[in-house]
Amino acid sequence: MTGERYAEVAVTLPVPGRYSYRIPAHLATRVQPGARVLVKFGPRKVTGVVMRLVDTRPEGVDVKLVDVGEVLDDVPALSPELVELCTWVADYYEAPPGEVVKAALPAGSGTAAKQVLALTDAGRVAVGEAGGALPPKQRVVLARIASAPVPLAGLPAATRAIATALETAGLVVRVDQRQTRVQAKREKLAELVGTPPPLRGTKRAATVAALAAGPVTLAVLEERVPGARTAVRELLKLGHVRVFEREVSTVAAVGGVGIASSGPPVLTGEQRVAVDAMVVALASPRPAPFLLHGVTGSGKTEVYLHVIAEVLGAGKTALVLVPEISLTPQLAARFRDRFGDLVAILHSGMSDQARLGEWTRLHRGEATIAVGARSAVFAPLANLGAIVVDEEHDGSFKQDEGVKYHARDVALVRAQRAGAICILGSATPSLETYAHTEAGTYRKLVLTVRPTARPMPTVEILDLKTYLPDGEAMLTAPLRQALAETLAAGDQAILFLNRRGFATFILCTACGTSLRCPHCSVSLTYHKHNDRLSCHYCGFTNRVPDTCAKCLSVGKIERKGLGTERVADAIAVAFPNARVGRLDRDVASGSKVETVLARVGRREVDVLVGTQMVTKGHDFPGVTLVGVLCADTGLTLPDFRASERTFQLLAQVAGRAGRGDKPGRVVIQTYRPDEPAVVAAAAHDYEMFYKAELAARADLHYPPHGRLIAVRIDGPDEHAVAEMSARLAELAQAAIERAGLAVEVRGPVAAPLARLRNRSRWQIWLKSADRHALRRVARALLAAEVVAPLRVGLDVDPMSAL
Ligand code: ADP
Ligand code: ZN
Ligand code: ZN
Repeated sequence: MTGERYAEVAVTLPVPGRYSYRIPAHLATRVQPGARVLVKFGPRKVTGVVMRLVDTRPEGVDVKLVDVGEVLDDVPALSPELVELCTWVADYYEAPPGEVVKAALPAGSGTAAKQVLALTDAGRVAVGEAGGALPPKQRVVLARIASAPVPLAGLPAATRAIATALETAGLVVRVDQRQTRVQAKREKLAELVGTPPPLRGTKRAATVAALAAGPVTLAVLEERVPGARTAVRELLKLGHVRVFEREVSTVAAVGGVGIASSGPPVLTGEQRVAVDAMVVALASPRPAPFLLHGVTGSGKTEVYLHVIAEVLGAGKTALVLVPEISLTPQLAARFRDRFGDLVAILHSGMSDQARLGEWTRLHRGEATIAVGARSAVFAPLANLGAIVVDEEHDGSFKQDEGVKYHARDVALVRAQRAGAICILGSATPSLETYAHTEAGTYRKLVLTVRPTARPMPTVEILDLKTYLPDGEAMLTAPLRQALAETLAAGDQAILFLNRRGFATFILCTACGTSLRCPHCSVSLTYHKHNDRLSCHYCGFTNRVPDTCAKCLSVGKIERKGLGTERVADAIAVAFPNARVGRLDRDVASGSKVETVLARVGRREVDVLVGTQMVTKGHDFPGVTLVGVLCADTGLTLPDFRASERTFQLLAQVAGRAGRGDKPGRVVIQTYRPDEPAVVAAAAHDYEMFYKAELAARADLHYPPHGRLIAVRIDGPDEHAVAEMSARLAELAQAAIERAGLAVEVRGPVAAPLARLRNRSRWQIWLKSADRHALRRVARALLAAEVVAPLRVGLDVDPMSAL
């Protein structure tokens, strides 16, 4: 023992493993697990997070021990619980720990240290003398550095030369900026100190009255009591108020804390049973996860709200994961309504600053409920009582780039380790989750009826082989009739089509060649709004050619296949009095989505045409008709989850109809009226679908019968990719035989999407019921040498085969 201590650091770079650094004596107390540190990594300085402290000198000949450079946190950014969770995620998903840690920290905190130019004392003096005797150009650059440190990287050569001259003159220096940390926005609040005696002046009295219920931001106070700022200043002098600062909460433009606009409704019998079971489990040290299986609109959210109220009452915190916040603003609003300022919202549509503000409120314990999408599973909540995963079946919980984690599964692990309850809610649970309830490892609670007197909508299936759709709007006669009736009654309709664009493929009618993306193996889609062809995978765009590149025919290029853009146009033509809106990725991203949804909510849109964005949990009482224009688009994908995804989409979109006082009606147009996904969705029968799909997956041992790891190999050269894939498959086979493991290797095969962004893509599938055996084989593959530009990646529990 040397008495020296060492820190294992996950550096925020895509490199495997952790790296050891010596802890210098002066930092001994500040280097703690979870703290961000600045360390040297090769020639660079990067940020990292301390994962573990050790007393023994790390082994290995090439361990060159360098000191930890600097500690960036006084209170560690990640709690010991989150450090352990990140370790688990890195291990389970075979991902670099630094990348996991980066996902767990708010944006802007993981960036490598930058070199910046800053003023020296002499420089500050020179600025004070307005540049003194400096040449004009140097004066300009000096003034710029004086206003804010200037990053060295990306500086134009001429400016850099001037900066070097200033450096030589001793006016500026290069320093390592700690990090490009985004500063959270702060706001000022006023609060009463004790109970002030009656005061002279109406402004003062009004201000005191406005503060009686609790602290209020100065901005809000001024709005309520014009002139309040002056009054606060006077009251401050008299010692009657205190002013403090805190991070701006995006959820609370309101003053006061925890205002509830209306009381919670009385629970139905089924809701009561669910809430009671969950509350009992709160007291258990190792509660089993719950599946809250309830049809759309059955009051699941209300159950979450009640349980969370109990969680807060017990002095604990809660985490709520939702698929996409921008698509479900109503849900976030309900949490805000019930719990006010205690709710922090985290989602990718927010600015880095706003998100950091919310993260900080959680980290400090000022907010105790986190509501957010996927990455919020790492929210800095201490003393967790409950985690809710709403719409647990939703594919967006799986991260498909970088660390390929599934937020639902990480939530289950986090809850288990924290002794918290985990509630998975869905009308259409994933097969994996439902199988757990059948096996008894998860507890199932059901909500079978809607608490409001709204029956489930009636569903009709229309066979597109019998009823021909018109070529423009994709409406069969019965759906057209239903739409006309709906509009005549002054109600709203949603039409769902899972393809965006105007024409979804472009064909030369002389030779039959279709136009494809030159970089990907997919058809190009025509968009009318910009009169161009585009690839939905890589973003390539092009004009529509007159001449076929294959047979040189002129004027034979035609646009086929209908997308949402064309359907919306055609509906507007067919129903000239209807106001038609569209919701898909082309018209709406981020806050625009909320604008479109708000217009539907205000009944400024009669017919909403859209992609799967329209199927999410919207609650529009005016919608009485939902039309599915073609249920088959997703069924034909070469993916073992195609059927499950179709069932979920159909059931979800059907749930949008009839949420108001009038009953709803759903019309599903399909070429495959006998498909279990279609039949079961129409019958609102989850069990029927579950049984059919479970049987369909049995022979090939697809989840939940077994587990999968996808090995994905890609590179610019098809041959090299195929060769590498073959080598890896052999390696896998060898590892299996050596250790006698029960793992099946499928492939290598070219991926269904065989070329993407000029890279060929191949896959190997590893299947097994034995998770540990599966991992041993996967690990054996990671040891193989891969030379750039080839890439090999593992996808543990893949959600898609494409
Ligand atoms: P889900 O989350 O299952 O889609 P919600 O919780 O959004 O269902 O409930 C659907 C509607 O029913 C909402 O408008 C909600 O306010 C209402 N609701 C839920 N529970 C009750 C109840 N116990 N009494 C009256 N209305 C309720
Ligand atoms: Zn042609
Ligand atoms: Zn492309």
